[in-house]
This record gives sequence, C-alpha cells and structure tokens, in this order.
Amino acid sequence: MSDQHTSTVTLARSIPELHATLDKAPGERSVVMTMGALHQGHADLVRAAADKAGTEGTVVVTIFVNPLQFAPNEDLDAYPRDLEGDVDLLTQTLTTESGELRVGALVVFAPTPEVIYPHGEPQITVNPGPMATVLEGATRPTHFGGVCQVVLSLMNLIQPTYSFFGRKDAQQLAIVSAMVRDLHVPTTICPVDIRRDDDGLALSSRNAYLSDEERTQALALSQSLTIAEEAARAGQTPSAIRQTALDYLTQAPGVDVDYVAIVDPDTFIELSDAALALPQPEGFQRPEYALVAVAARVGATRLIDNRLMKLA
Ligand code: AMP
Repeated sequence: MSDQHTSTVTLARSIPELHATLDKAPGERSVVMTMGALHQGHADLVRAAADKAGTEGTVVVTIFVNPLQFAPNEDLDAYPRDLEGDVDLLTQTLTTESGELRVGALVVFAPTPEVIYPHGEPQITVNPGPMATVLEGATRPTHFGGVCQVVLSLMNLIQPTYSFFGRKDAQQLAIVSAMVRDLHVPTTICPVDIRRDDDGLALSSRNAYLSDEERTQALALSQSLTIAEEAARAGQTPSAIRQTALDYLTQAPGVDVDYVAIVDPDTFIELSDAALALPQPEGFQRPEYALVAVAARVGATRLIDNRLMKLA
C-alpha cells in the first residue's frame, strides 16, 4: 500500500473491525465480493461500485478465498493470494489524479475462514436449487451452495445497498440474483460486463496458471463465442448457434471441452435441444437474449467464458 493513500483505506480482518469501520462509513454502501488476486476485471466492478455509491458513499471490497465453494480436489491451497498487491490495486483504482479517494471511504474486508465460519462447517446452509445442478454445478456440485453461503453471510455482515457481480460468472450472477429475490435480501444486484484482454481472453485470476502456449490456446474460448454470435446475427436457431461454437471449440488444439450451452440468462433453462441445462417447462417463452456459456480445460486449468447474444 503506498504511503500517500494509507489513511484513506481501511483494512478490516475481523467482524468487530469491520463493524467499527462500517459504523463510521459514510453514505450509501456498495459491495464487491472477490477471492483476491485482483485484476482489471475486478477493478471494473469496483469502479461501478464507486459510481453507484457516489463521492460521499462507501465501497466495501471483500477478499476471501471461500473454502466452502472448493471441492476437495480443487485448487483451494494453490489459489493465488496477494493481499498487499490487492489493496494497492484497489487504492489506485479509486484514487483520482489529484490523489484523493473518489468515494467517502474504501473498506477492504479480508477475513480468514475462522472469522466467517467460527463454528466450522455451517449447520444451516443455503440450498441454491435446480440452477445450481447444471453446467458449472454439474462438474462442481457443491460449488454454488458454498457461494450462496458466503454471499448471504457477507450481505448480512455488510448490509450493502448495491452488490456488484461480474457477468464473467454468469451462472453465479443468475443464482445470486435468484437468492436475493427469493429470500428478500435487501440489496440490489448490479451486473458488470466481462473485462477481456485485447486479444479477447476473459480476465481471470486463474489465467496466472497458463503457460504462454496454453494462453494462446485459451483464446479459442472467446473465439468460439464470437463465431456463435455471428451465427445468432445470421438468424440461426439456438441449436445451430450452440453447435457452431461446439464444433469450433472441439477442433481447437490443446482445448478439452467440458460444455457448450445456450440458455436463458436468468433461469439457465436450455434453449437448444441438447439438454445441457435445465429443460424447458411447458409454456416457457424463448427470451430475447440467449447466453452461450463454455467451459474447457486448457492444460490443467479449467476456464469459463460466456456471451449474451440477441436472438433473431
Ligand atoms: P472472483 O474473485 O473470481 O471470485 O471474482 C469476483 C467477482 O469479479 C465476481 O463477481 C466475478 O464475476 C467478477 N469478475 C471476475 N473476472 C471478471 C472479468 N474478467 N470481468 C468482469 N467481472 C469479473
């Protein structure tokens, strides 16, 4: 953290520290929840949060690698961690050219698992429902339950007016939006568009695992979405749009496809007949926009990407 800004940023590591800080925090409150290893995609969420909170408001950024959303075989211990670098990036993101913070306060809440789960594995859990059983939920059956558990806990602790989530994790956005709606959580969900590198790769903390060759191979994910979008623009059916992306990704070198799906972005109901997401219930009206979602392994790294596209 650079000296110039130290006084304008508060780092809270415990719940009493968080509450002492929030008691003094001015104005409306925006929250951005992250697992750290922050990049410009996270910075976009933080800027959007600052815009909404306003110059008198407070931005809370949480940095917590949540063990409950990792399965035993996943990369919990290896997940990149850099609290000092993260606080620096956040400070820079919210500092104006004149060296002032552009919001009333920036609070970074970086708890340990013991702070969030002081009694160990929680006894009362959030059931994220059918949307959590498909696509990401099919390969990671406990993932969204863990996400909802921590998101609801952090919303209860922080009581944000606005909560920012990236479209990069489209299924997470849909599930968290449904949780907030169904459990009457008093916050407004604000989605933020996917930040990409100039060559199209969606930014992700997990990109750090990729070798140079794998990084090039990983471009196939965003390219498959561009091709799907062209098919959508050409008026093709959802099945044909999905097949176009699947064919492209299947032949891409070094890419091991997990799924390619075309779904309603709010419900994750399947729009093609490929049964990769939830089946269409009777009376289901096809939405105006479709989400094409892809997941693939490049080397040992599992990557996801998606794009919203208008159907003809
Ligand atoms: P994570 O730290 O990966 O859990 O992500 C924290 C938040 O940042 C989530 O709401 C993500 O969807 C969002 N996010 C991560 N990467 C990007 C990106 N490239 N563009 C937009 N939002 C992102």
